[in-house]
Amino acid sequence: MTLTLEQLNTAPAPEAAAWLAGLYEHSPWIADAALAHRPFRSLAHLKHVMAGIVREAGREAQLTLIRAHPELAGKAMVSRALTAESTNEQGKAGLTDCTPDEFAHLQALNTAYNTSFGFPFILAVRGPRGTGLSRQEIITTFEQRLANHPDFELAEALRNIHRIAELRLNDKFGAEPRQGNQVWDWQEQLSAFSDPGYLEKGQLTVTYLTDAHRAAARLIEQTMRDSGFDEVSVDAVGNVVGRYKARPHPDPLPAGEGVKTLMTGSHYDTVRNGGKYDGRLGIFVPVACVAELSRAGKRLPFDFEVMAFAEEEGQRYKATFLGSGALIGQFNPAWLDQKDTDGISMREAMQHAGLPATLEAIRALQRKPADYLGFVEVHIEQGPVLNELDIPLGIVTSINGGVRYTCEVTGMASHAGTTPMNRRRDAALAVAELALYVEQRAARDGDSVGTIGIWTVPGGSTNVVPGRCQFTLDLRAPNDAQRDAMVADVLAELKTICERRGVHHTTEETMRAAAAPSAPAWQQRWEKAVDSLGVPLYRMPSGAGHDAMKLHEVMPQAMLFVRGQNSGISHNPLESTTSDDIDLAVQAFQHLLSQFAGPSHD
Ligand SMILES: [Zn+2]
Repeated sequence: MTLTLEQLNTAPAPEAAAWLAGLYEHSPWIADAALAHRPFRSLAHLKHVMAGIVREAGREAQLTLIRAHPELAGKAMVSRALTAESTNEQGKAGLTDCTPDEFAHLQALNTAYNTSFGFPFILAVRGPRGTGLSRQEIITTFEQRLANHPDFELAEALRNIHRIAELRLNDKFGAEPRQGNQVWDWQEQLSAFSDPGYLEKGQLTVTYLTDAHRAAARLIEQTMRDSGFDEVSVDAVGNVVGRYKARPHPDPLPAGEGVKTLMTGSHYDTVRNGGKYDGRLGIFVPVACVAELSRAGKRLPFDFEVMAFAEEEGQRYKATFLGSGALIGQFNPAWLDQKDTDGISMREAMQHAGLPATLEAIRALQRKPADYLGFVEVHIEQGPVLNELDIPLGIVTSINGGVRYTCEVTGMASHAGTTPMNRRRDAALAVAELALYVEQRAARDGDSVGTIGIWTVPGGSTNVVPGRCQFTLDLRAPNDAQRDAMVADVLAELKTICERRGVHHTTEETMRAAAAPSAPAWQQRWEKAVDSLGVPLYRMPSGAGHDAMKLHEVMPQAMLFVRGQNSGISHNPLESTTSDDIDLAVQAFQHLLSQFAGPSHD
């Protein structure tokens, strides 16, 4: 029997509890406690409530829950003593037909893992798409997780348990994240293209206008056409532009006034050995929305323009945000002559790709802000916050503004044996003191971040007190005033430290980017959309830069984040998200669009 949420919300508690039995292995107390929170607004709401109950239950209860799970491909599987749910999951992952070598390797991993952590290794073997990880993926993940810190691994085990419960719950309710699966599959298809040298190693690298990049563009074009876009084209910088036209306006518009456009999108280029979702999720989530509108024969009261930006990461050429920058009239003419590491200029690369490669054609891409309602962007979070909080979607309040400095402290290099501690002018220790200050000062704001990422003692020796120390500062905050206050404090502290220690310092500002606070009206639309799904609202700044920063300069913008798996890791092949979370993102986007649709919505 397939359950409905209505049944679950209205049934007597014992009956409802019986329906939810088996979601958490041998631990019915979780579903029982969750039922006190009825009525549930959605399955996502119920999932979140259950995760919260486990979080509140404390470490002992969590360990008991983890230990209630069987080992992967362990003795319970061999002796057929698994629960029906576990038998299904381990069988689907092909663990029941391991080769003898694989089986022996898994046993060794099980033993090592248990020795390290004191509980069995738990992995949601049905994976992010719900269709099963390969045995090789399971073994690789197992090996990687053995290296985790025990506290982190405990949390990771619980996250996997919640994912297992999510999939089991979907089964009980016959709930398939259909649109999420569709987007997930598109991401997978697109990840088949990778630049030479990386493709062979199974790594994803798609840099500006390479063959893989152009093949990716063609696939996006085709996906847009198949999804019912009215116009699809590739523009003069290689952006793929899809347009889903507005419904005919009932009354003639006043002279000179056209139908407005809502723009969305993100980038399809990647960093070297990057993830499949960075950028690309922001293209395919709205494509799925158009596919659904088109299937239903529905139109919006505005044109909907989905951009697949050709270049955001600045990998092949130092031309970060080239794709979105071109739309606001920012294209540095010198870029055309810039050469990649093979000596191919951007102009040549453009010509090779069949693009006009003229400044005139590129300048013609500049949009008239008056034609636009705004810009929205969906992006994978690229950080650990949502994953840690068990929250699938995040509302971006602002894209952090940042400043970078290259600095140097000069003291006195001297003999490490003969210079007493009170007579030293150690350049590296001055920076060490500053580093601790940066940590405290950024933390004091709550949402600022500060990093010393490069820190070297040029020509240093084991037996010499450091005479010079070169370092960088990267300071970011959700608004420019907060960032500037932090920068002023850090630079003042550097001065104080150097005076006290009798060393000199120099600083050079190398980058300054303004913060891009979300437009309140658009942020509220995302909030309404997320709230409609029954999942909690979580507001957060974006620590990373995004295409929305560029559009921000000419029109209102707001972003939605999607939780990443594997602690939110990004710019890394482990970057991942589930089709369930993607499905929620599609639903949120659909809700945002419907807020404009008016009563008829046809
Ligand atoms: Zn990105």
